[in-house]
Amino acid sequence: MAQNSRPKPEFPAWPQFGEEERTGLVRALEQGQWWRIGGSEVDTFEQEFGAYHGTPHALAVTNGTHALELALQVLGVGPGTEVIVPAFTFISSSQAAQRLGAVAVPVDIDPDTLNIDPASAANAITPRTAAIMPVHMAGQMCDMDALGKLSADSGVPLIQDAAHAHGAEWNGRKVGELGSVAAFSFQNGKLMTAGEGGLVTFVDAGQREEAFLRHSCGRPSTDRYYFHKTSGSNFRMNEFSASVLRAQLGRLAGQIDIRERNWPLLSGLLAGIDGVQPQTVDSRATRNPHYMAMFRVPGLAAERRNRLVDALIERGLPAFAAFRAIYRSDGFWETGAPRESVESIAARCPHTEAVHEDTVWLHHRTLLGTEEHMHQIAGIVSETLATL
Ligand SMILES: *Cc1c(COP(=O)(O)O)cnc(C)c1O
Repeated sequence: MAQNSRPKPEFPAWPQFGEEERTGLVRALEQGQWWRIGGSEVDTFEQEFGAYHGTPHALAVTNGTHALELALQVLGVGPGTEVIVPAFTFISSSQAAQRLGAVAVPVDIDPDTLNIDPASAANAITPRTAAIMPVHMAGQMCDMDALGKLSADSGVPLIQDAAHAHGAEWNGRKVGELGSVAAFSFQNGKLMTAGEGGLVTFVDAGQREEAFLRHSCGRPSTDRYYFHKTSGSNFRMNEFSASVLRAQLGRLAGQIDIRERNWPLLSGLLAGIDGVQPQTVDSRATRNPHYMAMFRVPGLAAERRNRLVDALIERGLPAFAAFRAIYRSDGFWETGAPRESVESIAARCPHTEAVHEDTVWLHHRTLLGTEEHMHQIAGIVSETLATL
């Protein structure tokens, strides 16, 4: 049978929506206030999302990149400081620090969990280090025990890039219960979405208050005479986005349950394919929302990996090439790069060098499918690899 005439699997669509989102949008529309000052949707969403993540100190913003930037600023990141980031991540992790005038210092990852390697982070600490940014890759939490200890010993705060980690838990503790700030994204592909959007959870009310000022041009919400207490910008979320996100939050737990059920099956099937190594699960990551179904084909060069991705798409899988190592994009070097060559960073990031070439991920909507879908996925990956 010709390859393109084989039936393609039909996975659930993303984003998902229903009456709850529709009702929310109309509620915001008819409220007569479409921005957060005077409206109630953003305020309520912050309370609901914060409560779900174990903290009362949540601030909604325009997007996940701004969430990181604002959180870093509140931690004192600016010119003359450094922020340690995993070399394998979406570029916003480093760009947020660089936009503030800081230097982003890439460090290596663990080749199995694909999360930041705590020992590499420890090695990169200098007197200028103002923050360490664990990115919970594909929703699996980083080693928050080791990183928490590193932070306590060094006095350098953590900022969790939780753009993949809505609803994630570490040893039963939620993102907001781990003693560090966390930044979320609600961009179209993320696990909850309003097309765009972001949110920061803070450790205390003072941080949240400073962030509120900075995200609203330095202006207190009650100000009538244009007295701007701090510098800032406009990172305010609008009421429509928040109304949709309240409905999306209501879907999150049920969707995580389905993905948590499907991943062990899919992961086991993938691990049974010669040369395939799915992202390893750390048993301390007690709730994993599974933002991506990731697997390595160790030894595969980027060019062949890209052909694999093309072939998987051809067979009907929503497949993607993994993130490029951040220091291998020109944009990384424009401002706020370390005084080091690409080669020298690459030499101390051997796992990133391998992973960014040999890794593939599938959209999380695949994990919202049926058991039958998991078998179909593994079958397609196996057949495609055999003919690559
Ligand atoms: C999506 C993402 C971001 C940025 O979020 P936006 O809302 O798209 O700005 C930051 N970090 C990681 C790891 C991401 O995947």
